[in-house]
Amino acid sequence: MAKVAIVGAGQAGLHLGIGLLMAGHQVTMLSNRTGEQIAAGTVTSSQSMYDMALGFERELGIDYWQDCSPQYSAAQMRLADDAGNIGMFWQGLMDQPGQSIDQRIKMPRWMERFEELGGDLVIEDADIATLERLSAGHDLVIVASGKGEIGKLFERNPARSPFTQPQRVLALTYVHRFNPRPGRPAICININPGVGEFVSFPGLTLDGPCEIFTIEAIPGGPMDIWGDVTTPAEHLAVSEKLLREHFPIEAERIDGHLELTDDKAVLRGRITPTTRHPVATLPSGALVFGIADAVCVNDPITGQGSNNAAKCAKVYLDAILARGDAPFDAAWMHDTFETYWDYARYVVDYTNMTLTPPPPHMLAILKAAEGNAEIAHLMANSFNDPKSISPWYYDPAEAEAFLASHAVAA
Ligand SMILES: Cc1cc2nc3c(=O)[nH]c(=O)nc-3n(C[C@H](O)[C@H](O)[C@H](O)COP(=O)(O)OP(=O)(O)OC[C@H]3O[C@@H](n4cnc5c(N)ncnc54)[C@H](O)[C@@H]3O)c2cc1C
Repeated sequence: MAKVAIVGAGQAGLHLGIGLLMAGHQVTMLSNRTGEQIAAGTVTSSQSMYDMALGFERELGIDYWQDCSPQYSAAQMRLADDAGNIGMFWQGLMDQPGQSIDQRIKMPRWMERFEELGGDLVIEDADIATLERLSAGHDLVIVASGKGEIGKLFERNPARSPFTQPQRVLALTYVHRFNPRPGRPAICININPGVGEFVSFPGLTLDGPCEIFTIEAIPGGPMDIWGDVTTPAEHLAVSEKLLREHFPIEAERIDGHLELTDDKAVLRGRITPTTRHPVATLPSGALVFGIADAVCVNDPITGQGSNNAAKCAKVYLDAILARGDAPFDAAWMHDTFETYWDYARYVVDYTNMTLTPPPPHMLAILKAAEGNAEIAHLMANSFNDPKSISPWYYDPAEAEAFLASHAVAA
């Protein structure tokens, strides 16, 4: 049985660590925060997750919230301007529901499970010296630090990273007094061209069900006004103002005034979408292996990062279990990451196509979804699996053939 060390007790690290323990491996996990600190801290994500990723959690018996959290089984996308003039709208049904569990609930519970299974949870902010120490005492060291600084030890891969700057200014908020859309609970994506996006869905937070939304402002655009915001109350006020000014149709859902679910229910930031080389060499020559956001981070606009983390954990778990007594060498690490990349590259394209002015073939597909329930259904299910809409979503010629086969003029 292997001795594995994992740095970072988040979506990927805990998923992988629990899977390894269940298979009889020995796992040490380093976290720079205790479960109590995570539970008492600020929100970290909107973490909308879909069936494939949730299925991998269910395989390990760690989707503890399916029966007690809001579920949503539709996706809708609306393109509209400040006045609410609608340029496009489609809604499609998902084959299986999505859900969003506040990571302040999920990660502490998973840390408990990790320890129940005999895992060694160490509270420490890992640095290079820590990685050296871990590599001396373990067969494999995995860095699952998400957006943490230590992930920078993995070299950026420019061939897989088209951006060198953040493409959006992000503002995340968990609220009450924001009514659900009428009809099926849905993930609602609203695009105001040249301004940014507003994405909302129901979730489960510390005090129960809530609505979670992310405002994605185009840098330098009219929603990029967060510079002076410091307090949660200011954050909420700016969010409500932007919602009313730029997404008036969604603003109709506000019941009086928005209320924060708690005083840590806001987050602001910006992310440069980046894919890195998955293997790093420490000064001693030892190798460490990166997973999930540490080596492939996307803007959250398409809500894929937690899903990616679960899928990456599943690929790495299967590869470790299949390795037997053979060493976890560089070739194995690269092969394992490439297995993940064969999926993740679609997510990167799917997300980056949403961040940039859309290519004509993408617009034609989205427009076609408006009047064609089957295309809307395929698009709604693409949140679960962006690869499922390849090749036609990603390639102009394939898009033309796809639309022709659905009797839609490209
Ligand atoms: C605003 C916003 C909205 C989002 N919405 C969605 C969404 O709707 N759907 C979706 O799928 N994804 C979403 N994401 C992305 C998603 O949350 C992440 O992609 C996912 O959590 C990544 O998992 P991970 O395991 O790689 O990292 P994380 O879950 O971030 O875990 C990393 C852990 O490592 C710890 N750590 C870091 N450095 C060290 C160190 N040196 N030593 C010890 N521990 C360390 C961190 O404290 C953290 O606990 C969103 C993100 C943001 C910012």
